[in-house]
Amino acid sequence: MVGLFEYFQLWDVLLEMNLSQTKDVHIWCLDGSGQFSSKLAYRAFFNGAIPFEHWSRLWKSWAPPKCKVFLWLAIRNWCWTADRLAKRGLPHPSKCPLCDQEDEDVQHLLTTCVLPREFWFRILAPLGPT
Ligand SMILES: [Zn+2]
Repeated sequence: MVGLFEYFQLWDVLLEMNLSQTKDVHIWCLDGSGQFSSKLAYRAFFNGAIPFEHWSRLWKSWAPPKCKVFLWLAIRNWCWTADRLAKRGLPHPSKCPLCDQEDEDVQHLLTTCVLPREFWFRILAPLGPT
């Protein structure tokens, strides 16, 4: 039910409208061309967002292709870890096979599990604090 307040709000909006006899056209306001495209809509969706673009850093890196593919899968959370296996009803370990303490997912396997943390420490420690 429209109340009196909404009626006057609509009245105020309509007072600023200029009606003409020309045919209405749709104009995409988020681009100078005024033409809509799904590409422009996709860009507009992220307008104001800070681009991280980890994918471009990954694919432009000097890492071997199999490492790039693995990292791409890990970033997309497409590795066949226990959480993904469980979602599909497939056999999976109940806990992380490395530490047997927490549920296994790609984030845990690569960063928070005690064994990978030790691995990363040994790899990165010689580089010193940055
Ligand atoms: Zn673990």
